[in-house]
Amino acid sequence: MTVLVVGSVNADLTVRAERIPAPGETVLGGDATVSPGGKGANQAVAAALAGARVALCGAVGGDAFREAALRGLTRAGVGLDHLHTLDAPTGLALITVSPEGENAITVASGANAHVMSAHLPEGWEGFTHLLLQGELPPEVTCEAARRAHAAGLTVVLNAAPAREPDPDLLAHTDHLIVNEHELAALAGGGGDVEEAARSLLELGPQAVTVTLGAEGSLTVTPEAPHRLPAYPVPPVDTTGAGDTFCGVLVAWLSSGRPLPEALSAATVAAALACTRPGAQDAMPDLAEIRAALA
Ligand code: ATP
Repeated sequence: MTVLVVGSVNADLTVRAERIPAPGETVLGGDATVSPGGKGANQAVAAALAGARVALCGAVGGDAFREAALRGLTRAGVGLDHLHTLDAPTGLALITVSPEGENAITVASGANAHVMSAHLPEGWEGFTHLLLQGELPPEVTCEAARRAHAAGLTVVLNAAPAREPDPDLLAHTDHLIVNEHELAALAGGGGDVEEAARSLLELGPQAVTVTLGAEGSLTVTPEAPHRLPAYPVPPVDTTGAGDTFCGVLVAWLSSGRPLPEALSAATVAAALACTRPGAQDAMPDLAEIRAALA
């Protein structure tokens, strides 16, 4: 195994309804779909489909949603030796989607909220990269970064969802990936994106990538900034674009490719994921990424 993802695993329960219900209201919807989700699982699947050897450390419950939550991980060949089954429900995202494409999401963290530092791998041999997000208890994410850093792994943090900066976590992060909202939460909003990203370099990371949706991305390092336009596609559903970007970036880095090449692959893969509905089901494999890069 090369890439270890320490992160969340959910089942996403989605219902399309004529509108998002107001408090106290009941609306009738269409058929419910259950699909695998959670940022940790999504990014692990993206990295594995892009050709990396990937393991996931996290937790699910022993309930009926377990299978749905693990479907994409199993199919993509993600190693599950560090996945724990806890006496708690599998994480569940309840998603209502209106005909206009607006959604209302309630996340029941379940087993994800019960992950502890004791669940982290005892040794880090065999891993070169650690990929983290912000959906597990913050102290566990921080401890994973600290231990992996001490063991010489490259630590990549997707600081999503947005929250206040954790100086200890950032001090143990090599590459930080955020969208504009997350950047504003970490560096303060209102200013220039490049300036804000650059200010985060002082807190530890050697590279900060800001994803800008259809505008592409900006990566700052101590050297010149690297701006990359989005790969042009007709978008159908942008769910999971950010997760695809993070997973594929780390997959490419873990195979020894330089950062600009990894950013190009991540950009192409994230765009391809926008051309199909869903999150894990929409992610491209290595052959598709290579064909689009050629
Ligand atoms: P999400 O939470 O929806 O997964 P995010 O907010 O974390 O996304 P974005 O900045 O929206 O992340 O998108 C990540 C990357 O995906 C962008 O940097 C870009 O390369 C690609 N991308 C997003 N939207 C589009 C689009 N409409 N067309 C092409 N590429 C896109």
